[in-house]
Amino acid sequence: MSVIGIDFGNESCYIAVAKAGGIETIANDYSLRGTPSCVAFSPKNRILGVAAKNQMVTNMKNTVFGFKRLLGRKFSDPLVQKELKHFPFKVEPRADGGIGIRVNYLGEDNVFSPEQITAMLFTKLKDVATTALQTQINDCVISVPSYFTNAERNALLNAAAIAGLNVLRLFNETTATALTYGIYKQDLPAPEEKPRNVVFVDFGHSSLQVSACAFNKGKLRVLATASDSQCGGRDIDSALAEYFCQDFITRYKLDPKKNQRAYQRLLQEVEKLKKQMSANSTRLPLNIECFMEERDVSGDMQRSQMEQICADTFTKVERTLRAILHNAKLRPEDISSVEIVGGSTRIPAVKGLIEQVFGKHASTTLNQDESVSRGCALQCAMLSPAVRVREFSVTDVQPYAVRLAWDAARGEDGDMEVFPAFHAAPFSKMLTFYRKEPFTVSAYYSDQVPFPDTFIGQWHIKDVQPTAEGESQKVKLKVRVNIHGIITVASASLVEKKQDAAQNDNVEMENSNENVNNSQEAPMETNGSQEQPQNGPDNQEDKSKEKSKKVLVKTVELPIEARTHGYSQQELNSYMEQEGKMQAQDRQEKERADARNALEEYVYELRGKLSEGETLHDFVAEDQRHKLVNQLDALEQWLYDEGEDQNRQVYSDKLTELRTEGEPIKQRRLEYELRPGALDDLSLAV
Ligand code: ATP
Ligand code: MG
Repeated sequence: MSVIGIDFGNESCYIAVAKAGGIETIANDYSLRGTPSCVAFSPKNRILGVAAKNQMVTNMKNTVFGFKRLLGRKFSDPLVQKELKHFPFKVEPRADGGIGIRVNYLGEDNVFSPEQITAMLFTKLKDVATTALQTQINDCVISVPSYFTNAERNALLNAAAIAGLNVLRLFNETTATALTYGIYKQDLPAPEEKPRNVVFVDFGHSSLQVSACAFNKGKLRVLATASDSQCGGRDIDSALAEYFCQDFITRYKLDPKKNQRAYQRLLQEVEKLKKQMSANSTRLPLNIECFMEERDVSGDMQRSQMEQICADTFTKVERTLRAILHNAKLRPEDISSVEIVGGSTRIPAVKGLIEQVFGKHASTTLNQDESVSRGCALQCAMLSPAVRVREFSVTDVQPYAVRLAWDAARGEDGDMEVFPAFHAAPFSKMLTFYRKEPFTVSAYYSDQVPFPDTFIGQWHIKDVQPTAEGESQKVKLKVRVNIHGIITVASASLVEKKQDAAQNDNVEMENSNENVNNSQEAPMETNGSQEQPQNGPDNQEDKSKEKSKKVLVKTVELPIEARTHGYSQQELNSYMEQEGKMQAQDRQEKERADARNALEEYVYELRGKLSEGETLHDFVAEDQRHKLVNQLDALEQWLYDEGEDQNRQVYSDKLTELRTEGEPIKQRRLEYELRPGALDDLSLAV
């Protein structure tokens, strides 16, 4: 069993595997290390990854990309509406307000959810890893932007489940990078010494994420994060494309925005130009042949001009860099280095801003493309018994403040902040309620968040009844940020005094305590503790039990009815079944194509060898050779005609038939060659 880490990027994905010898990146079926986050549909199959991206411009309506940003969101979400403007494929609202992506697949209209599309990409990644490692892949750690909310995280977990991946952790991207940085560092300060503070900047395709981490030997603690989910390399491409659109309207009277295909080509070309400008500050040309209306276009640009055109993006970058200092309460001089990753940190202006804000050069010691996937593979190895790696403790944060609200009993506040922003994660807190009947609590992100829907979840605690004396019962709720960064009410338990301990003084004492609490009717106790993944989740309960060691109490788990984001098990099962069918279809199509190729190859090979001067020419009687060559010509014709689209059996039957003619000839040649001195003989004969 292998453990893998997946960096699920908006533009491309990387897979790393943890092995006894270290971490390795897995190359895909095109021998590339990165796999485009691209899924396409055809009348015969799905096309995934590199192949999907390669056919994008010719199959635009059925090539889906940029779906990472759609996960867990409603169609009406302003961010989704903004994303839609850039999509050449069709996106529509679903009956439940969710997002549907409409494509033509197997000759029919199909609507898929962003989770399903993501699952298709994961299926591809799983396939790449399985092929490369020749083992079953189940356990993995998948990266997630630190700013992803409950809804987005749940959607990502659903996508992984549809693809049959078991996610040991959704790991924040910048934290994965921090782990990659820390694990091999030999010179980190001792545990009791002042930690080394390092800032990580990940500027990718769609967003910018920054984190500040404190390192000591064997551990890292995330201090804070800062991010701009609306600022990435693609925004630079859009701004440059906009510039050239205006330029082409003026000079050529051509408006690329009127032609999706031309616009997509323009985007690809300006991206290339952008990358060249990172290495070169002189004026660089942009040439696109047969761009629109069969006309060629050309233009040029210089780095300084690009920086002006994209000033907005760079302002946002600077703002986010400054925000990390504020959020982590650090001064530039407290930071020992700024490590950069993500494709867009290759832009000189971004490095310049880092230098300006932190007063030091951006450090490029990490692999800019692969540090996230490597960190995920490391984390996966730490969480899985399958591989042993060096222990390294990771304490992450939860970026948004979280409030819990409930139906207030008399004199009670109706809500409280359970987790402030940048609270350690994973983490559990115990809240004590006094209730005579079932009750409901709801969790929300506080208002200071950059997204419209602050709802996290609602939990109904059932089976609460008054005591025999008609009093309230003590109910303890465990509110948790779990290992995936998802906020949940993990359990509810009723704390009852034990019948046979009625005379025990301690029980009386707890009773009186309870009365005090009862009169206030508020969640009086909150305590919590850090959950290290390896420690197991429930350690803080033990602490609270310790305090009241002598009190004899019985705890009863209460049933909870939860309403949060994500699919029900039933929905998941049906999506998994659908995915399974699509995989079978893809496999069938691949076998069909392979059978056709095998036949085609045999036709070409045999005909080639039968021709004048070639190896098989003299090993078959002339009239038979003519007959066979005619037969081969006819077969070739057939392959491009009605034989273009037959099922696998038809091709393999034809191949078998053909081999009964071809193989004996090859055999005769072989036997001849094996005779001593045969080849000399042959050369004499020819
Ligand atoms: P995200 O992290 O936003 O989900 P991602 O991980 O797929 O996306 P990366 O692979 O880190 O993104 O970065 C891709 C971006 O980096 C693209 O916008 C690409 O144009 C840009 N990029 C790559 N190389 C360069 C370069 N040399 N100069 C400028 N930009 C570059
Ligand atoms: Mg990335």
